[in-house]
Amino acid sequence: AKALGRGQIRRFTPDLRRRNERRSAVLQAVQRALSESSFHIVLQPKFRLSRLGQPIGAEVLLRLRDTEIGQLSPAEFIPIAEAQGLIPAIDREVVRLVGELRARGFALPLSINLSALTLSGPGFGDLLEALPALARKGGLMVEVTETSFMGRLGAVRDTLHMLRRSGVGVAVDDFGIGHSSLAYLQSLPVQELKIDRSFVASLGHEPGPSHAIVRAILAMAEALGLTTVAEGVETPEQADWLMAHGCELAQGFLLGRPVDPQEFQRFYLSPQEE
Ligand code: C2E
Ligand code: CA
Ligand code: CA
Ligand code: CA
Repeated sequence: AKALGRGQIRRFTPDLRRRNERRSAVLQAVQRALSESSFHIVLQPKFRLSRLGQPIGAEVLLRLRDTEIGQLSPAEFIPIAEAQGLIPAIDREVVRLVGELRARGFALPLSINLSALTLSGPGFGDLLEALPALARKGGLMVEVTETSFMGRLGAVRDTLHMLRRSGVGVAVDDFGIGHSSLAYLQSLPVQELKIDRSFVASLGHEPGPSHAIVRAILAMAEALGLTTVAEGVETPEQADWLMAHGCELAQGFLLGRPVDPQEFQRFYLSPQEE
């Protein structure tokens, strides 16, 4: 503490207080959204790189627009909700919203993000019926991040195998940044690897470490019979490089931003007008 001058402490404290105030405001917004069912979902199209144009599916992404603090990004509210144990409740809410979408006749395959906390937690039983039911109505895949199942591999594995047996697909999200051993790929019923956006971001420039990493991921996926999805494709150069190196599927702002379900339906699924 002595090393910190008084001036530094004075400059630091208001920042810390602001951060804490923001955290509790965000937490309250999440609790409000859960109790008032005011979360909503957007859909980002997922394409086969060799046949852009018609999406083969969509990823469901959560959105929260709070009356007091406005639009909140999941990148901000998910970690805060996680620290408060609210993730299973949020994940259940997403499953409910996807059920509503299916009930309105939306039949394209969907991917949802589920936390390993939800997959390994108590009370997953109801989801073991709800998720296969959604899968039967057009296809469903769950995306789980490598980092989130560290330390919970046993319980996550059992749940994922049950889901897999009942027709739900499994994807590893943000693949490559988890610092985890790859051994889990042997024991989890994975079909799809989603190559993290941070690697995709530097493709298309001069060859560098990301190119080598993505090449290695694609080779490994091919050898293991897994489908690869590049996330965060923003430029034609990235898309070309990925396709040339055997990546099958892609998402990203170049191909389609996340939009609300009605717009998705209008833009991608209505019959083309003459
Ligand atoms: P993620 O699962 O890796 O989702 C992809 C994120 O990248 C989304 O951000 C998406 O909008 C964004 N993205 C897509 N294409 C591009 C691109 O070309 N460029 C850039 N810069 N970004 C792109 P979003 O919706 O803000 O979600 C952030 C993270 O929050 C997600 O990362 C996921 O980890 C988490 N999340 C979102 N929805 C849910 C949910 O329903 N449940 C859970 N548990 N987590 C969620
Ligand atoms: Ca995801
Ligand atoms: Ca991801
Ligand atoms: Ca991510």
